[in-house]
Amino acid sequence: MLNGRTGFDALSFTTLILAIVSAVLASVIENQLYAMIPAVIAVAFIAYTIFRVLSTNVGKRRYEAEKFSSLFKKDPYKRFKCPKCKTLCRVPRHKGKIKIHCPSCGHEFVKRT
Ligand SMILES: [Zn+2]
Repeated sequence: MLNGRTGFDALSFTTLILAIVSAVLASVIENQLYAMIPAVIAVAFIAYTIFRVLSTNVGKRRYEAEKFSSLFKKDPYKRFKCPKCKTLCRVPRHKGKIKIHCPSCGHEFVKRT
């Protein structure tokens, strides 16, 4: 059915939920003029969801979905500035107190990660 198409992913699901929330908001607002704003937003989200699900540019849609999900992931690394040369040193988190060896100048310093 969805031959060569992106199909439903986490980002499409989120935009669909946002469309539903906007549509509900539009139906709750009594002033018709102000209700137009969430109604237009709901239509835009629905259009974007349909566009994403039916898109044949799978690579680009997958890249967007990855970017979107990376917003909610915590960086597994902590960065420290070398006190000697100011180079940023990247070390893994949750390793306790470790000795960091600067890859640029060779200086060693101790930090808690
Ligand atoms: Zn250094």
